[in-house]
Amino acid sequence: MKKLCVLLLSALTVATVVSSVQARGIASGREFDTFRLPNSTVPTHYTLRLDTDVHRGVFEYTGNVQIRINVLEATNQIVLHSLRNEISNLQLRNGAGLTVAVRNYELDEEKEFLVINVGTTLQPNSGTYTLEIDFTNSIDRTDQAGFYKSSYEDDEGVTRYLGLTQFESVDARTSFPCYDEPGIKTTYDIRIVCGIEYHARSNAPLLGIKLLEGGKKLSTFATTPRMQTYLVAWLVSDFVYEREVLTEPQLAIATWAKPSSAHLLSYSVDASKRFMRAMEEYFGQQYSMSKIDNVAIKDSDYAAGAMENWGLVTYREQAIFYDPAQGEQRQIGVVTIVGHEFTHQFFGNLLAPKWWSYLWLNEGFARLYQYYVGDISHPELNLRQRFITGPLQTALRADDSLTVRPMTYYIDTRQGISRLFDNIAYDKAACVLRMMNYALGERTFQKGLRYYVQQNKDRGVVEESNLFDALEQAAKEDAVLPISLSMHDIFGSWSNQPGVPLVKVRRDGNEYYFTQERYVANDPPPEPFTNAWWIPISFSTPSNTEFEKRPAFWMPPNVSEVMYEIDTAEGETVAFNPKSTGYYRVEYEEAMLRELIKGLNKDHTTFEASARARLLDDTLNLAHSRGHNYEMALQLFSYLQKETEYVPWMVAYDNLRDMQVRLRSNEKASGLLQAFVEKLASPMLEKFGANQQQGESASVQELRTIAIELACGASESCKAVAQSAVSSVARGARRHYSTTDSALLCSGLQQATGDQRKAFVGQISQTLVDKTVDDIFTKQNLKQSLSCAGSDMAKVESYAKLLFALEETDRTKALHRLLVESKVPLADVVESLQSELSLRNSNSVYRNKIPKVLLEVARYVTEPSEMQLLNAATAAYAPWIATEIEQQLKANRRWLDLNLEPLDSLSRVRGGGTARTTVLPPFEETGVAISSATGPLQAR
Ligand SMILES: [Zn+2]
Repeated sequence: MKKLCVLLLSALTVATVVSSVQARGIASGREFDTFRLPNSTVPTHYTLRLDTDVHRGVFEYTGNVQIRINVLEATNQIVLHSLRNEISNLQLRNGAGLTVAVRNYELDEEKEFLVINVGTTLQPNSGTYTLEIDFTNSIDRTDQAGFYKSSYEDDEGVTRYLGLTQFESVDARTSFPCYDEPGIKTTYDIRIVCGIEYHARSNAPLLGIKLLEGGKKLSTFATTPRMQTYLVAWLVSDFVYEREVLTEPQLAIATWAKPSSAHLLSYSVDASKRFMRAMEEYFGQQYSMSKIDNVAIKDSDYAAGAMENWGLVTYREQAIFYDPAQGEQRQIGVVTIVGHEFTHQFFGNLLAPKWWSYLWLNEGFARLYQYYVGDISHPELNLRQRFITGPLQTALRADDSLTVRPMTYYIDTRQGISRLFDNIAYDKAACVLRMMNYALGERTFQKGLRYYVQQNKDRGVVEESNLFDALEQAAKEDAVLPISLSMHDIFGSWSNQPGVPLVKVRRDGNEYYFTQERYVANDPPPEPFTNAWWIPISFSTPSNTEFEKRPAFWMPPNVSEVMYEIDTAEGETVAFNPKSTGYYRVEYEEAMLRELIKGLNKDHTTFEASARARLLDDTLNLAHSRGHNYEMALQLFSYLQKETEYVPWMVAYDNLRDMQVRLRSNEKASGLLQAFVEKLASPMLEKFGANQQQGESASVQELRTIAIELACGASESCKAVAQSAVSSVARGARRHYSTTDSALLCSGLQQATGDQRKAFVGQISQTLVDKTVDDIFTKQNLKQSLSCAGSDMAKVESYAKLLFALEETDRTKALHRLLVESKVPLADVVESLQSELSLRNSNSVYRNKIPKVLLEVARYVTEPSEMQLLNAATAAYAPWIATEIEQQLKANRRWLDLNLEPLDSLSRVRGGGTARTTVLPPFEETGVAISSATGPLQAR
């Protein structure tokens, strides 16, 4: 799923790459050899007053910050962060209120430090000093970071402005001078002056309002809990809100948005209420303030998906708006994003990471419990299964390269820190935490987390060893770990090493032998890896489910082979990692795999849905990484003709789409694959039909959508529905359009004539600018379907604009539609990106999206001419990812070299038959003729 929290904040222009202090006044000559503050002085409290005229469309603001400071080491310098603030006055006072002489102050532009040279040496334990700074700054910035402006159009068409903040990771310093490190926690008293008809909100509850002259007012907020700078937040707007006040204990929960969206807020308020109470109970900890606000910001003004500011959480509008016509899929979106940000109120906010190295202690927990507490607060949404199809799949793919980083990873530059917000911090960390949840048993793990919260909340700053200590205490008390094992060793083997393990298993009678190694999808290492893990091995057989979640044993690192006995009844097979609870892949020896495939084709329901998913994913990925065993992998996939469950199909879908990407430029192979895919998905399309039904679950809707995407072209009835969908849009028919509609439209567009496509594109171009169509999801789904209109799309929107406007998951889908389904030449897409970037390069929101878009495009690139184009675009617009791009291109080539021929051999077996005549391997109720040398999918 998409990044929910923050991300990629701007690499604000740090053009000057000089490491010495840029002196203003007398140079001190001091150079800082690190991006870390010296921390010889530390802040204990901030009083911040801001004065803004955003209500008048005036974007300059003035600020006054008073920072109470303690001295830890004798020093004549106070060093904190500041960027963009124009300082007009700076004073230092001692505990008695007397002025302490300041020689001068200087800015270190590279380090973003404000260095204050004091006339005397400040001594430790010499009482509290107060540093007071007056400054001016502007919210007129385009990087969607710091204190910045957004806007909306009111009913009269007048533009209304608002000001909001986005400080994570290192942009608090761009709005007021501060000690901007995540491990420094202090309290804040915030006061905001704004227009009388505007509301100011901040982290803490509003204490009072005082009217001022000139149509302005002063809002004073209560003192915040001790928190780090990146959580400080405020909003100055004329937004409206929907609020619910809970009692015992009192908690006001509200969602704020522009007035015309007031009818879309109820669901998010209700979801917030349910999630908050479930979370408080689960972790045995009460939320620490009497209010929490959600704020919806226009998508195009909000780069992150959402941000967990303590008490004032911000989101893209799209992420929390809900219209009852939208159904369960959108409910899942709202619950999981609210759940993610609310989980941060404990993990991240109450317990701050000591440094960015431990970002995974924030994001891993938030990613896990958005599903797992969400499953408690909203059991009807069945969220746990979505972890397997979401974060687990994402993590396994992100973690299979040679160059991936470990979870705990030190870096201190602005750009380096922004790159830590990746799938490792979010998805892998969530998978490893979830694995421990099952390995220790859920009750013990929960108890350990309660210890973790209670033992650390007063200090409020954590590193990984604090978590390991708490889990170990719970594990020892409940005797769920062998006495000789330590959580530090076990968990440390996962957090401090990169990569995902591959567990190989072979069988001799009832003895099973295990080895482990690091799994790498492409580019096997020049020499064997030394990585090894403490791996909880779980299994199930049809008659034994005792160890399906909790481990039968812990496989130690640095042991060449481990044997474990499993008694099975006659004809029974053993599935390892059957609940997908372990973060590892399994490779069965061939004889075992044959038995599993036979069993699956005979009666797939004897295996858990999650076990079927793992088997599909592990087997096909191993085939890809070695270029052999396709016979087995495709025989395995052929069971999908009988599959109608969510988890296996979503995982299979991921894999089939991935193959479509890789085989894109080979017409013959992609034709064969398409025929295979249609055969697999047609029974499901027949079962669910192309038309949506009222009141269906999200899972059924998603299954129908993928059945349409994969197999509509092979069904006359589906094609008819799809064509009529296209003509209904072309005629200008009005209604809500869902993601399923978007899939149908795509299929219809593929069959449409040139004139029909033009009429369709023309109509959509009107709908997209039509202000009376206020459903952003309809607009988005129609926009998505444009990517299926191929080159006709370019009449409405450039490829680049479409890709940059979409969030990650939608962008992935749109790119697939453009390049695979509509067969738009990749060169056209890259050229469109280049021409867009040449206009926009200075915009740092674009700067942050460029690497992601280029890396996404790189997955499709196989031809030398395409490689050249992409390399040139990378060199011009994102040279810092040149190595990553190079690796991806190399990996693509290697994949094709390894796999194209085995897959292409299918056509030779069929005597050069066209794609549509290809058939599946023989499929029999009693088993599959796997060894048949004449099977059409026989690999070489
Ligand atoms: Zn987050």
